[in-house]
Amino acid sequence: MAEKDIERVLLTADEIADRVNSLAGEIRSRLGDGEIVAVGVLTGAFVFLADLVRRLGGNVDVRFLRAASYRDGTRPGELRIEPAGDLSLAGRDVLVVEDIVDTGKSLEGILRWLQERGPRSITSAVLLDKPDRREVDVSADFVGFEVPDEFLVGYGLDYAGRYRNLSSVAVLRRSVYEGRD
Ligand code: 5GP
Ligand code: MG
Repeated sequence: MAEKDIERVLLTADEIADRVNSLAGEIRSRLGDGEIVAVGVLTGAFVFLADLVRRLGGNVDVRFLRAASYRDGTRPGELRIEPAGDLSLAGRDVLVVEDIVDTGKSLEGILRWLQERGPRSITSAVLLDKPDRREVDVSADFVGFEVPDEFLVGYGLDYAGRYRNLSSVAVLRRSVYEGRD
């Protein structure tokens, strides 16, 4: 059972829903009533994206990209970004949707990658932000919640492929990922 692996709930489903609702309103105020291309970063953003786009209303084209860091030791920190399906952004208003900004390296790389595709505008929305962990100078236009430097799961965020289906955002018990050999 997932529940015993949880240290504590940080954000309840209701708190998240309220915040996503107001974020959607703020984003529409900024971008206006035209079409938005919502680009979700797989896989962690899929729950946030699903809730956010339903609150945005109007014309929203939902697309995805994949961003992964090489962790094989050969080129540490190298970010590989690729579209997941068709992704034509030229002249369009892009809303990139991410789960969490930690060091900032992923978001920085993604914003640069999107910029090269010639959009009319790029706006970024992240559910969670760990400002204490930042290593590169990047910030999202819209942030759901600032969170402490703890390992979080739920509402799309996983540990080893699990916990994405929790309705809340929770701190994972350290014993789940430490002290095992
Ligand atoms: P950054 O490039 O900003 O260091 O990393 C962002 C990525 O790290 C996120 O998209 C996410 O995949 C992962 N990440 C950072 N903090 C957490 C966390 O607390 N929980 C989970 N599940 N992933 C995290
Ligand atoms: Mg991610």
